[in-house]
Amino acid sequence: MRQPDFVDMHIHTTASDGSFSPAQVVELARKAGLWGIAITDHDTVEGFPEALEAGRRMGIEVLAGIEISLQFVDNTHLLGYFPQGYTPAFREAIETLKRYREERIPKMLQRLAELNCPVSMEETLREAGDGLVGRPHIAKIMVRKGYAQSIQEAFDQYLASHAQAYIRKKKFTPEEALDLIRKNQGIPILAHPLTMDFDQNRLKEQIGLWKEMGLAGFEILYSDYNASQAARMTAIADELGMLKTGGSDFHGSSKPQITLGSGKEGNLRVPRAFFEAICNYKPV
Ligand code: AMP
Ligand code: ZN
Ligand code: FE
Ligand code: FE
Repeated sequence: MRQPDFVDMHIHTTASDGSFSPAQVVELARKAGLWGIAITDHDTVEGFPEALEAGRRMGIEVLAGIEISLQFVDNTHLLGYFPQGYTPAFREAIETLKRYREERIPKMLQRLAELNCPVSMEETLREAGDGLVGRPHIAKIMVRKGYAQSIQEAFDQYLASHAQAYIRKKKFTPEEALDLIRKNQGIPILAHPLTMDFDQNRLKEQIGLWKEMGLAGFEILYSDYNASQAARMTAIADELGMLKTGGSDFHGSSKPQITLGSGKEGNLRVPRAFFEAICNYKPV
């Protein structure tokens, strides 16, 4: 099925905790008939060059991006898009995030050992391969070793933020992350705004505050969002005059319910115009 007017602007690869390489992700986008994709790995941009090269080969537009976790309500994430590619200064600055990630892993493994689920640092790093290490890598090993039946169970029982083996990771504040993206010619976009679980007024107020700090837009389309949720967020975007984006948050096998380009049960369709609006955006 060809859908040349659709894109997916939220995708993880093996450069972070996705299970498909950047080139494989582009191949999936081609098979899905997408016009373009953005690579938005957690805390790293190292997957982009391979994806860009594959995109050139396969005729898929590839936009450079990143997803950064904020020190705010749990799972508040900021996407950054870089239509002109990444600056060396940006790549340098995000080394800090890699360090924050690596610092917490041994502490989580220590907790797991105390809970009779020994996983070694070496195994964990091997699971992450060339990519940045994260909790999904630990979860995969736990399933393999029979400590949990599924990745979701590993999270629910051990790794989720309320669970026993969880250790907080240091994060950038919203202001730090917005500034970092903006001063490196990036466009900051709030990911999956409904994870904050704010009511409509509070959500609009919060987004409005971040707009003052440079936030350019937010995801109105997402694998978990239904039409009425999308409509709620469209209303806020239009009222505040902000960009709308959308993506699946594809991770491959660590989130097997999500399909690249079409989300859960094929309910996601992100228009190409969202992608082009990012590319044409002039910061105010
Ligand atoms: P980390 O970057 O190590 O903090 O891990 C974050 C990743 O873990 C996210 O991208 C999600 O894919 C996954 N994740 C976080 N919380 C949960 C949860 N409660 N259930 C399942 N997956 C989760
Ligand atoms: Zn992830
Ligand atoms: Fe996210
Ligand atoms: Fe994501």
